[in-house]
Amino acid sequence: MDCIFCKIIEGELPSYKIYEDKRIISFLDINPINKGHLLVLPKEHHRNLADTPPDLLKELIDKVQKLSRALTEAVGVKGFNVILNNGKVAGQMVEHIHFHLIPRAENDNLHPWPGKTLTSEEMQRTAENIKKLIG
Ligand code: 5GP
Ligand code: ZN
Repeated sequence: MDCIFCKIIEGELPSYKIYEDKRIISFLDINPINKGHLLVLPKEHHRNLADTPPDLLKELIDKVQKLSRALTEAVGVKGFNVILNNGKVAGQMVEHIHFHLIPRAENDNLHPWPGKTLTSEEMQRTAENIKKLIG
């Protein structure tokens, strides 16, 4: 399969590996947003959130929590972002599900996304539309 993360998992490409067990792996992002920026992913290839089996997803988030503790202590930060880009339109470049763990510092110039203001009708309609589709 032509997946760069599968190649790292198979050892065909190098990485700065942080963690590995039977189902999960973590390594440093090659272009870190901040020092310590790492990726946490299942070894099994799944494209995105919808495609990933729930039990694997639970294991993945457990490891995100575990690794976040080590990461914040190692790089000496008090906060971090956990990001999962889902789909090209959301900025997902590598189509093998992965969480980003990004250490944050004050004044690191990574500005938060701007917020929109919607009317109460739009908010209400949006909430209803989502609610009725929850399985
Ligand atoms: P996405 O945009 O898909 O959420 O994030 C993909 C991430 O993978 C990017 O932050 C990018 O820097 C990182 N990346 C891409 N290719 C490689 C690689 O070969 N090795 C490592 N360690 N990270 C990579
Ligand atoms: Zn893959």
